[in-house]
Amino acid sequence: MKCPECGAENNDNSERCNVCNAILPASKSQNHQEYREIKFKSKYFATILSAVIGFFFIFDGVGQLYLGFYKRFGVECGISIVLNLISYYVVFFISMTIGMILYILPLIWLIYTTYDTYKCADALTTGRSIPLLFGRDIQ
Ligand SMILES: [Zn+2]
Repeated sequence: MKCPECGAENNDNSERCNVCNAILPASKSQNHQEYREIKFKSKYFATILSAVIGFFFIFDGVGQLYLGFYKRFGVECGISIVLNLISYYVVFFISMTIGMILYILPLIWLIYTTYDTYKCADALTTGRSIPLLFGRDIQ
């Protein structure tokens, strides 16, 4: 089966392209329909997961876990933890004011990772390839 995104030849029973990782149309159209429906349901849930857990805890990108992008979650959550710890450290040990200003960094990262979760979920839903993170294909 030819990939509709990049044109690479793939196994007929593959779910995803082995070159660009785009979702391949299923051989039975009904299966494909079911698959898309499941993913569509999870789209907003994934985004809300990333937003809410990222806001109340320091773990950003939890929605990526839900979507099955474990490596991407690792990167997004890791950066969030580092940014949060830096601003906590500055608040407690250096300067409250500078720490509060620095706290804008983990906030921006939270907004970005929430948006990124939405973009990934949307790509899954529509069968497009997953957007790059820092120019890399991290899933
Ligand atoms: Zn492809």
